[in-house]
Amino acid sequence: MRKRRRKMAEFCYQCTQDHFGDGNKNDFQNVSKKSNTDKGLYASVLCEGCGYTQVNHDGMCIHHTTDCLVAENEKSEM
Ligand SMILES: [Zn+2]
Ligand SMILES: [Zn+2]
Repeated sequence: MRKRRRKMAEFCYQCTQDHFGDGNKNDFQNVSKKSNTDKGLYASVLCEGCGYTQVNHDGMCIHHTTDCLVAENEKSEM
């Protein structure tokens, strides 16, 4: 069995967009399926920007405006 090589840093859709300008290719886009998102099931991941959060099938952080580290930082800046 081949082990999947761990990357140093993984980013969700929004953080990839922020750092690289294009979120359409991100590290979490295939960790869950659209059928899961439709059922309200999300994958738990560790994003380098968001900390521990959950993403949908596109790798989008579903707590990005409310509850992840990025959201917390933005709240504290206000
Ligand atoms: Zn993120
Ligand atoms: Zn986030």
